[in-house]
Amino acid sequence: MNKDQIQSLKQELSTVKNIVIVPHKNPDGDAVGSVTALYGYLIQLGHQVTMISPNDFPSFLKWMDYSELFLNYENQEEKANEIINQADFIFNLDHNAFHRAGNMELILNKVTPTYVMIDHHQQPDDFATYMYSDTAMSSTCEMIYHFLEMMGDTDKITPAMATAMYTGILTDTGSFKYRSTTSTTLRVAANLVDKGANAENINRKIYDVNTPSRMKLLGVALNNMTILEQYRTAYITLTQKELDDNNFKKGDTEGFVNYALSLDGIVFAQIFIEKASESIIKTSLRSKADFDVNQLAREHWEGGGHKNAAGGKSDLSMEQTVQKLISILPTYEKELHEVVI
Ligand code: 5GP
Ligand code: MN
Repeated sequence: MNKDQIQSLKQELSTVKNIVIVPHKNPDGDAVGSVTALYGYLIQLGHQVTMISPNDFPSFLKWMDYSELFLNYENQEEKANEIINQADFIFNLDHNAFHRAGNMELILNKVTPTYVMIDHHQQPDDFATYMYSDTAMSSTCEMIYHFLEMMGDTDKITPAMATAMYTGILTDTGSFKYRSTTSTTLRVAANLVDKGANAENINRKIYDVNTPSRMKLLGVALNNMTILEQYRTAYITLTQKELDDNNFKKGDTEGFVNYALSLDGIVFAQIFIEKASESIIKTSLRSKADFDVNQLAREHWEGGGHKNAAGGKSDLSMEQTVQKLISILPTYEKELHEVVI
């Protein structure tokens, strides 16, 4: 977004508008953080704002301010559609294509509000009048901070908004570890602490919420981990039965794939998690350095994301899905070997 666009958006937002804010399906910390932070800002400007999530999000994010105000499209579709039909503005946060909003895709394609996209994923679709897309950004939450800077409104950041943005930056950078963490990211985080984000508290609420059943499930996942040294790859499988046997709750498998990637010498890790209710296997891909899993996920797993973190799915059985991975890897053997870590 350039200066003229910011001016024009500012002008449009100077009168009361009906605004809807949408995160991607299966919202993570960055999605919930960016949506609730923007909500906190827009209500201060006096707008009518509704946050609509394509589906539910994990309980480890439900302590966040305003998180209880989300409509869940999965069970409030009619009410949500009514509001979407009335919207002057729809903000799409932490995603850059309508299909990432799950079942909301249909209505988003139908309505014609002014769309605003704020996102850091690769290859954005071209639907937004106001598009702030930057793949170099650590997180959408960092972008919300920069957006508020551009709007000249950082003085409107409340402790609740600061907490929300800090949370998204924390989770999307793997606690400031990934290389998307720039000096600016750290400065933004520091400013958010000054604005009332409590780093220790947030860390505890996000990461110190393990349950015994999640720990047991992690044990199963690690037991199922297979290392393919030839390809510097490790993968993990979790079947629906294994999830059921361990009292699986939404969010429980978050971060499991990182254990595979943390193996010394491994540059590519993938986890396959069966989702019987949708007859699919959801997959998460992670990589180190220059190995591009966004491209790999687009080509082979009907997905995408970032260079070092992407997601996708498979319609095959678990066994066939693993076979598919094994059949794909030789194509990447040379590339995997050349990755410098
Ligand atoms: P995760 O593996 O944690 O679900 O997602 C990793 C990254 O890839 C996130 O930035 C997420 O938004 C993106 N992502 C996850 N699943 C999909 C998918 O099915 N399609 C696309 N395009 N991106 C995905
Ligand atoms: Mn994100």
